[in-house]
Amino acid sequence: MTGVSARRRRGGLKFCPKCGSLMIPRVRNGRKELYCPKCGYTEPLEGESPYKIKVKIKHSPKERLVVVDKSQPPPDAVVVKGQVRCPKCGHDEVMVWMMQTRSADEPPTRFYRCLKCGYTWREYA
Ligand SMILES: [Zn+2]
Ligand SMILES: [Zn+2]
Repeated sequence: MTGVSARRRRGGLKFCPKCGSLMIPRVRNGRKELYCPKCGYTEPLEGESPYKIKVKIKHSPKERLVVVDKSQPPPDAVVVKGQVRCPKCGHDEVMVWMMQTRSADEPPTRFYRCLKCGYTWREYA
């Protein structure tokens, strides 16, 4: 039996380099650290990522600024038949889609496009 090391790893316990007291882990400002209750020495707790707070920025479709290009209806445009008439040629088959043209807290603008003549107009909700 050789090389049996009696290494005692007691859960990462550490002793204060200043006064030799047993340091205790604690959380301060969202970070884990080791704290010496005797002299007040602190040390960041290794092995744990101090950057636990991840800032997630969600980009919802509503927040996106949409550049209005009248010549290109979005893929989610719907063809409506018999409900809306083109003010130019009177055709009743139009494409409808909604677009956020101004700020996100304002209602989106509804766009129409005539399938016959291609005339595009908008309607504020
Ligand atoms: Zn200490
Ligand atoms: Zn038309």
